[in-house]
Amino acid sequence: MQHHLLDPSAPLLQRLAELGQPAWRAKAVRRWLYGSRASSFADMTDLPKALREALEAEFTLWTTTIATHSRAEDGTEKLLLELHDRQRIECVMLRDGERRTVCISSQVGCAMGCVFCASGIDGVVRNLTTGEILEQLLRLARLLPATERISHIVVMGMGEPLANLDRLLPALAVAQDPEGLGISQRRITISTVGLPAGMERLIAENPGYHLAVSLHAAGDDLRTKLVPVNKSIGLAAVMDAADRYWEASGRRLTFEYVLLGGVNDSPLHARELVRLIGGRAALVNIIPYNSVAGLPYREPSQGSRERFLDVLREAGVNVQVRRRKGARIDAACGQLRRIAAGTKPSPSGDEATAAASSPPMAIEPLAPGSAT
Ligand code: SAH
Repeated sequence: MQHHLLDPSAPLLQRLAELGQPAWRAKAVRRWLYGSRASSFADMTDLPKALREALEAEFTLWTTTIATHSRAEDGTEKLLLELHDRQRIECVMLRDGERRTVCISSQVGCAMGCVFCASGIDGVVRNLTTGEILEQLLRLARLLPATERISHIVVMGMGEPLANLDRLLPALAVAQDPEGLGISQRRITISTVGLPAGMERLIAENPGYHLAVSLHAAGDDLRTKLVPVNKSIGLAAVMDAADRYWEASGRRLTFEYVLLGGVNDSPLHARELVRLIGGRAALVNIIPYNSVAGLPYREPSQGSRERFLDVLREAGVNVQVRRRKGARIDAACGQLRRIAAGTKPSPSGDEATAAASSPPMAIEPLAPGSAT
C-alpha cells in the first residue's frame, strides 16, 4: 500500500536515504507541497525525474477525491470530499475582505448528539487522520490564486475536535510551521462542545489556540436537552475549564450560542446567559440557526432575536452576531454530506425541506474535480 505523504509518520526521510538522496530533498518536497501547491510529484520539477517516479510509486499525495465543489455568490466555496473508504466530509473556504478563512472537519459524523445539528444525526463513524485533516487544508489552499493564502483556520466543521486531538494537533502543527502553511496560532480557532478533559489537555500542551465553547443554553436542564453530552459534564465544569484555559492562554474566550426559535431565545434565556457569563472577558458569538432537513428547529423571528441581543448588550456583554454567510456555511457542515448520501428531507416542516433541497445557501455546484 502507498503511504499518504501528508501523514506525519510517512517514511519520506527514510526512503530518501535508501534512495541515496540528501535529507534536504524532504524540505524541497514540503516546499512544493505547501508553498508552491504542487498537485503531484510530476509538478516538483527540480527533483530528479527518477526520484519523482520512485516517490510517485510509493507515496500518494491525495487520499480524497472532490465529490462536489460548490461556490456561492459571495465567494464562499465548499468541498464535499470523499475519503478512501467512501465516507464523506465537508470543508469550506470563506472570503471576507483580506481574510481567507477555512473551516475544516475533524471527524466523520459526530458523537456529541447536539439535537439541532446535522453532523451528529447518524453518530460518529470515525476520527479523521492527521493526513485527512491536512488534506482539507491543501485542497482548500488550491482554490486560491497564487497571490493569496489561507489566513485563518476554524475547526468548526463536522465532528468534535477535542475528541480527536491526537490527530488534530499534529495537523495544526504543520499548519503553523513556516515550512508548512505558516498560519499563526492566534489565527486558528478550535470550536468545542466543551469537553473539560480535552480542554485540560490543551492547557497542558498548547493553550495558544483560540478556543470557542459552544454553550447554546445557560442552564443545565436546557443545555442537556440541546447538547446531550452535557448530562455527564454539566455547565459548571465547562465554565471552570474555560476559565482555566483563559488563564493559561491569556486569549479572549468565545462562547457560541445558536439561537433556536421558541427554544433558547427568550429574554429570560438571555438574562440567564448574562448571569452565566458574569464578569468574564468573553465574546458571545450568536449563530443564526441554519435549518436542517428533518429537524424541528427554526430560526427565531427578528423581533425575538433583537430582544435577546438587547438584554445581552444592555448588561454589557460583548456580543457578536455571526454573519449569515459564514454562519450558513459553517452550520451547514454535515448537511451536504447527508443530502449527497440520499437522506430524504422530512415531509414535515416546509422551511427545513426548502433548505435541504437547495443545499447550503446560494451555492452553485461545479463539476466534480474542478478544483484539482
Ligand atoms: N463540535 C464542535 C464543532 C461543531 S460546529 C462544537 O460543538 O463546537 C461549530 C458550531 O456550529 C457549534 O457551535 C455548533 O453547535 C453549531 N451548529 C451546528 N449545527 C448548526 C446549525 N444547523 N445551525 C447553526 N449552528 C450550528
